[in-house]
This record gives sequence, structure tokens and C-alpha cells, in this order.
Amino acid sequence: MKFIDEYRDSDRARNILKKIEDTVTKPWTIMEICGGQTHSIVRNGIDQLLPDGVRLIHGPGCPVCVTPLDILDRALSIVSKPGVILASFGDMLRVPGSRETLSVAKSGGADVRVVFSPLEALNIARENPQHEVFFLAIGFETTAPGNAMAIKQAARENLRNFSELVSQFMVPPAMRAILSSEKNMIQGFLAAGHVCTVTGYEEYERIGEEFHVPIVPTGFEPVDILSGILRVIEMLESGRSGVHNEYGRVVSREGNPVAKKVVDEVFHVADGHWRGIGVIPQSGLQLRDEFAPFDTQKKFNVADIQPDESPLCRSGDVLRGMITPERCEAFGKECTPLKPLGAPMVSAEGACAAYYKYHGKVL
Ligand code: SF4
Repeated sequence: MKFIDEYRDSDRARNILKKIEDTVTKPWTIMEICGGQTHSIVRNGIDQLLPDGVRLIHGPGCPVCVTPLDILDRALSIVSKPGVILASFGDMLRVPGSRETLSVAKSGGADVRVVFSPLEALNIARENPQHEVFFLAIGFETTAPGNAMAIKQAARENLRNFSELVSQFMVPPAMRAILSSEKNMIQGFLAAGHVCTVTGYEEYERIGEEFHVPIVPTGFEPVDILSGILRVIEMLESGRSGVHNEYGRVVSREGNPVAKKVVDEVFHVADGHWRGIGVIPQSGLQLRDEFAPFDTQKKFNVADIQPDESPLCRSGDVLRGMITPERCEAFGKECTPLKPLGAPMVSAEGACAAYYKYHGKVL
């Protein structure tokens, strides 16, 4: 299949690996931001094929993993009320809340429905006018346009039984926070191609210049990832910073102006509370005041939530790249995909799940 097969071609991958080996003269530490890229790296054994000294650190770009526990606890509290339907992407269902998961709540009778798009959640609201329907609007810049569109459409139709419980984050403030940390060891980034498809990469150019790091937007197939790593290493070895776009078949410098406009119309920038990491200033999105009737948090008066994280879970250290998952003492013991203590063990983009499934295997 065009645009897939050639990016999974093992001969091309081997050639790029050889170029990486020929280019490296010293150790480098590179972070891939996105959990989708982490899964591709670990699934294909890329981290184990790289030359000694080239180290990949897994970043915080797993939307399910960074959704704060109090949002999940709020969702559980709201959906337990009579006449309420929660629509959510499927990978939120097994994420541990303080006391239970959405999946357990569903099996106990709560009306939790899996959808593939917020527009499906709108349909549920249209078909169930006697119910309150709320959508768990989580994610990064990739999900924000769809979530914004659903709000605009609900406002247009005056669909007052629809709302969103919003937990939206943006990647660049997290990169700045990582690079500003005294403990930072990241020298270059692989940026998430799908995020850049929406946002473009002008903000990444500013980060690259400000912190003197190379940033390379790339895709998710093995050849994409290896090409991105090669480009970061070439830039590091030659002392260059800024952005080089390795995902030109999808990403443009300016991104998608229509998507950016709808996000800006519906959301405003606010501080973001990342699960396991804490507050990163100006890293989140919240609904603008004019859309308050569609804001689940304003619609439902949920009493103070006191989230209760497992003391064993080191997901914050995993998400900040301070440790790899197997260095968490609970990894594979108290915490497995069947009995997860933290979101990174259940999410399709979580680093702990990737290590549990694939680490040690080279395809
Ligand atoms: S292995 Fe489990 S307990 Fe440890 S950091 Fe990952 S999700 Fe948390």
C-alpha cells in the first residue's frame, strides 16, 4: 500500500541505520514526544538497533496517560447520576481512577458508551434528548479540532443536553518545560507528525532557536522514525538547531489553518494539569465563556474530588523520561495490562504498555 509499505521496508531501514552508525561520533540523547512513536520504536526494536551512545527517551505525548486523575474521577461521579450518558474514546475505559475504572462503572450499570469521534457523541445527544450526554474530550492538538467542531455544532443546534469534560493539552509548552528543567538531558526531539499536521511547526522553530536544539517532525513507521533520528543526529553532529521536516508528505510549516481557527474560536489557552507531571503553565485548553453551557464541569456540580494515586506508580517519572518503565518496581509485578496501576500500562500510546508487550523483541 502506497505511503505504508515503503516506510516499512527493511532494506531502507537497514540503509538508514548504517548511515546513523556512520554519522555518530559521540553520545546523543533524543526524546520522541509522542506515545505512538514510542510504541513504534519499541515494537520494531529500533531502540536496540541504534549504535551505543544514541539513547532514546520516551516523552509525555500519551493523551490518555496525562489526563488528570481528577478528570477521570469527575467523569465517574457524573456518569453515576441518573439520566446521564458518558461518551468516550475506548482507551479511557480501562484507565484506573481513584477507586474504579469506567469499564467497571459500565459493568455496574453506568451508561458509558465508546465512540470514535465527538461527532458520534453529538448523535447520541440528538437521539436521547431526555438524557444529559457528555463527551470526555481529552488529547493534544490532534483531537482539539474535532472536539471544538462538536461544541460549535452543539451551539448551532442549541443542543443543550450535550457537553464536554475537557482535558486538552498542547505539546510546545511541555517541550519548553522539559528543556528548562535543571535535570534536562534531552539534546534533540522527534516531534509528532500528526500534531504538526494540525499546528505546523513555526512554534517548534522558536523553541529550536531559543534552546539550541534540533527538532524533527516525523511519522510513525520504522523508516519515518529512523529518518528522523538520522536527521536529528546529523544536526547535532554539525551543531545545527531549529526544525527539519522529515514528514513532508503530510506536514507543512503553517499546518492546517481551518483546524487552528476552529480551535481558537472555541478554546482559550490556560494552565494545564498533566497527570503525574503537575501543572505546566499555558499548556492546556479550556472552553471559552461563550460556550459555558456546553462545559460539563460548569453544568454538573461535582463535589470536591480528592484523587488517590497508587503510591507505587511512577508514571510521572516515565512521562518525563526520568526512568524507563522497567525501572518502576511495580512493572510486570503489581502492575500489568490486566491489573494496571497507572494509565501508561493500559494506553495504546503508553510507554509501560509498549515495554510490557514488546521490549526485548526486534522485528
Ligand atoms: S509500570 Fe505501572 S505502576 Fe509503574 S509507572 Fe508504569 S503504569 Fe505506573
